[in-house]
Amino acid sequence: MLAFCPGVQMSFQVFGLPVSRGVAIGRAVLVASSRVDVAHYFVDANAAAAEIDRLRTARDQVVSELTALKRDLPGDAPSELPALLDVHLMLLHDETMIAATKHWITERHYNAEWALSAQLEVLARQFDEMEDEYLRERKADLEQVVERLLRALARGTSAAPAATQPLGARDFAGEDPLVLVANDIAPADMLQFKRSVFTGFVTDVGGPTSHTAIVARSLDIPAVVGAREASRLIRQDDWVIIDGDNGAVIVNPSAIVLEEYRFRQRQSDLERARLSRLRHTPAVTLDGERVELLANIELPGDAAAALDAGAVGVGLFRTEFLFMNRDVHLPSEDEQFEAYRGAVEAMQGLPVTIRTVDVGADKPLERMSLSELRHEHTLNPALGLRAIRWSLSEPGMFRQQLRAILRASAFGKVRILIPMVAHLGEVRMVFDALARVKQQLGEAGRAYTDVDVGAMIEVPAAALMLPALLKHFDFVSIGTNDLIQYTLAIDRADDAVAHLYDPWHPAVLRLVADTIAQANRAGRPVSVCGEMAGDASFTELLVAMGLRSFSMHPAQIAAIKQKVLRADTRRLQAHMRDTLDSDDPQERWTLALQTLGSQRPSLAAFEADF
Ligand code: PEP
Ligand code: MG
Repeated sequence: MLAFCPGVQMSFQVFGLPVSRGVAIGRAVLVASSRVDVAHYFVDANAAAAEIDRLRTARDQVVSELTALKRDLPGDAPSELPALLDVHLMLLHDETMIAATKHWITERHYNAEWALSAQLEVLARQFDEMEDEYLRERKADLEQVVERLLRALARGTSAAPAATQPLGARDFAGEDPLVLVANDIAPADMLQFKRSVFTGFVTDVGGPTSHTAIVARSLDIPAVVGAREASRLIRQDDWVIIDGDNGAVIVNPSAIVLEEYRFRQRQSDLERARLSRLRHTPAVTLDGERVELLANIELPGDAAAALDAGAVGVGLFRTEFLFMNRDVHLPSEDEQFEAYRGAVEAMQGLPVTIRTVDVGADKPLERMSLSELRHEHTLNPALGLRAIRWSLSEPGMFRQQLRAILRASAFGKVRILIPMVAHLGEVRMVFDALARVKQQLGEAGRAYTDVDVGAMIEVPAAALMLPALLKHFDFVSIGTNDLIQYTLAIDRADDAVAHLYDPWHPAVLRLVADTIAQANRAGRPVSVCGEMAGDASFTELLVAMGLRSFSMHPAQIAAIKQKVLRADTRRLQAHMRDTLDSDDPQERWTLALQTLGSQRPSLAAFEADF
């Protein structure tokens, strides 16, 4: 039960884009954005003293640096400089700031860097509210001092690994639930929340299919992105309701609003429990069409959730997440092999589709050890060196990944998926690399099987030249997230154009429908693995288009299965052409479903069969 005191704080709402369903209620944890890369993790209570020591050492270092700097100032240095350094030294000795920073470590269990940036956030707001311009401008000094401290912490020793836990891993039993509020959360950071204690997320920026939103959805906790001012308006410890269905974020709600949302939370828990009973029911339409429901995973550990949700395989393993949150070295061939084998074995003989690394755009590697320079100067990363383009520009790394995947194929059913294919030249290079890798493995006496190789159809060029691609690939998987981005020229991660990111756009639907139809005609397996596959409002339309394989976050499988079980493909198909030819396919399809509604079994009648 929440220890909530209505009326004490000002209540207000902010709005953003709903990206992961449900309602979360908890206290705000603000993750400040900083010019320095700040690690956020919790430290055990018994490691707090060591963390405070790190802080003290860093402070002593910065004090010596600044003192030496002041002592060695050249004679012709501007006269304000010594005074400025004095201000910085004074801030470093400010007891209130030191005590408050320690408080974040001892009371909230933040690591030193996080505690410092949380305190900076609090003080920065106080500076912003000051009337006196001179004092207001001291905020910049504070930021510089904190930045120096953060750098000193980064240079110094980090806390003992046994005492630290990634952000989200700490056991908060008995304490208030927490929601995370940030300007932005990189996909790599989101990954840290896999064992999350956070019950919801709010970010200022981000689009509906940004990778941050995708990972939030895979965590199956309510999230709102693109809430613009949220991280500026919400304060540490504010009570926050995240309405992931409507994109509303309610801060310090009144008791009556809180009760209303608690009721909705209970309803949605009941609905989930009801749907979970479908777990082992085969996904077959009313007219007997079998539909394959696969899972999208980011890490081998997600395979358990996939099986648990009743997935009949993995349709998309986004391997780039193995390459994130690393210091200098990318994962070695053996490390990758172990990860792929882990996923394959966990799926117990069910197929696992491993996509080669798709870094770039909104999934940068923190330390692009190989192509650092090329990446830093990319003007338009979504159109730049991303996905297979990046892999082909790092042939050694690409072959290493292919070797690791092929080695894992000796342990179960593996398929390889190539992201962002657009050119036949790329296709040739992919198959040349594969042939070379197979030869190397053969010569080394390593076991592997002849895996199927598929192409992601996520660039309009690939959809438009499908027959040529089908000459080379064994299967295709439609990546609707990027297909929409590239067809409509809308950056999927940019909330400023999110209202134009339209999966119902006639051009998008035609590309999807044509790809499915052509692949079916050619007898090649085709699936959809973008977010459209897990969006229940598209299930019947995709089934009508002839799609029989969907890949989505495990948490979405039950809701999609429910749609499939109630679908009659022949009846749906009768409305498909009109919908695709319409100027407003969404409206046309909604009307069609209303017409069909009366002919379909009611949900209650159907539930009896579960
Ligand atoms: C897609 O683009 O639809 C897709 C599945 O790939 P990602 O979201 O990882 O870019
Ligand atoms: Mg994609």
